[in-house]
Amino acid sequence: SSGWSLRGTTALVTGGTRGIGYAVVEELAGLGATVHTCSRNEAELDKCLREWHAKGFAVTGSVCDGSDRAQREQLMEKVSSIFNGKLNILINNVGTNIRKPTVDFTAAEYSTIMTTNLESAYHLCQLAHPLLKASGAGSIVFVSSVAGVVSLGTGSIYAATKAAMNQLTKNFACEWAKDNIRSNSVAPWYIKTSLVEHLLQKQDFFERVISRTPLGRPGEPKEVSSLVAFLCLPVASYITGQVICVDGGMTVNGFY
Ligand code: NDP
Repeated sequence: SSGWSLRGTTALVTGGTRGIGYAVVEELAGLGATVHTCSRNEAELDKCLREWHAKGFAVTGSVCDGSDRAQREQLMEKVSSIFNGKLNILINNVGTNIRKPTVDFTAAEYSTIMTTNLESAYHLCQLAHPLLKASGAGSIVFVSSVAGVVSLGTGSIYAATKAAMNQLTKNFACEWAKDNIRSNSVAPWYIKTSLVEHLLQKQDFFERVISRTPLGRPGEPKEVSSLVAFLCLPVASYITGQVICVDGGMTVNGFY
């Protein structure tokens, strides 16, 4: 089959009912992958599954809170049973943020960000490893953030979880290369999703974002999902351990 196709492959995309995750599900399914996704809201998940079936995409879904260890284990058992113990693609997309100064962070808030963004991705990689290995050609993609590459005013714990994902990307690339599993990270700047739309709606904030962005606009979810999908394709078979920013040039913009 073509190196530009995912026909015959299987994928798990966490958090696929909105934003970047939704676009990734559609991109992978459109390239021929059979996809399983999850979110916490059953009604929204069912609505998405109906939309995808109407488009002819092979997508199934589970209600799963990615921040809960037992639910992650149940999710991977389900994935293993529907895909016969083999998984080609794991997209760690679930993530959230609480925006406030470091000195105002409570212990509970610290724990929420660490668990949802970092522990969930780490543990899903552990759980998926035997399935990725059994597939013969595995690919992990982390949805990180430019906040894990440069310092932004978006919260230090969020930034630390994203930087940690970028490091896991490198460690897994080396540790699991012998199992023919690749690992890469995609680091977006502002993308128009439900996570940040309330921020981008504020005129002064929007203008500050734009003033730092050479391409002069925030990104679309499809502009992230295209790279995520590319990294999973057979044509990307020599790319591993990389962190790639999808940021309209923001991180290379020293001053202009
Ligand atoms: P959205 O909030 O728009 O969508 C998040 C998706 O994940 C939803 O489907 C949501 O469904 C699901 N989700 C959230 N928490 C959980 C959970 N605990 N368990 C299961 N599913 C969950 O977010 P984005 O698309 O904007 O963000 C996706 C990723 O991209 C995140 O990791 C984020 O940090 C990263 N990112 C986003 C940027 C942006 O500007 N948008 C910039 C840089 C990085 P539900 O709530 O029903 O569970």
